[in-house]
Amino acid sequence: MAGEITVLGVRINALTMKDTLTNISDSIANKQRMFIVTANTEMVMLCQNNEQFRNILCKAQLVLPDGIGVVWAGKYLGQQVPERVAGFDLTQELFAVAEKKKARVYFLGAAPGIAQKAADVAIAQYPKLKVAGCRDGYFSADKNLEIVDEINRSETDILLAALGAPKQEVWLYEHSEMLQAKILLGVGGTFDVMAGTAMRAPKTWQNMGLEWLYRLLMQPSRFIRMLSIPHFMCKVLFSKKH
Ligand code: UDP
Repeated sequence: MAGEITVLGVRINALTMKDTLTNISDSIANKQRMFIVTANTEMVMLCQNNEQFRNILCKAQLVLPDGIGVVWAGKYLGQQVPERVAGFDLTQELFAVAEKKKARVYFLGAAPGIAQKAADVAIAQYPKLKVAGCRDGYFSADKNLEIVDEINRSETDILLAALGAPKQEVWLYEHSEMLQAKILLGVGGTFDVMAGTAMRAPKTWQNMGLEWLYRLLMQPSRFIRMLSIPHFMCKVLFSKKH
């Protein structure tokens, strides 16, 4: 596909938001399955030593550059990356596509009540949006088939899974054959932000590429997870030299 780049062995579709939405709209119209991953540095680093996750990303139809680190790495390695396509932003844009195409959206994930709140916020902005259903993301594996059945019975077209990475990508991939939804997208903490229980970095921080720092300041418990960022940068710098 046009715009494919490779960062530390991980294929990234370096598309603009507009092109991404065109691809998704076409998939909905043609009833083609599209499993989408928005990849940040943490996920690229996970691919380095987790073969299962690496294989899952290989199977995704779109792996988008979420996270300024991935955008920086692509550019540093001499590849064209037009812009960052953040999972949160993509989700909001998808609501507009869903409303226009009359596609049904299912909100799966986050703590009890949060998915419904996120759906309410989406409907407030897109009144004709069809919500297929909502369910929290704290369930045991023995509920998997029941949940797949519920999603299928609700005639979901777009399934948003907010279970955190890599859990959401693993869950979507493992159930993709059973799910009838056409668009499968992992959205991380998006529902929390929509519901107002978490804050996204202000635009100025985002524009300066400092969203990761804002998240760290808001949630210092992310420190260990975020050690993957300097590790990622060193690996990218080293990979260019050799
Ligand atoms: N979550 C969930 N089920 C789980 C673990 C996590 O639904 O078993 C939710 C969690 O409540 C949060 C989201 O997954 O809403 C993960 O948010 P985080 O900000 O960690 O995701 P990221 O965007 O960093 O992947």
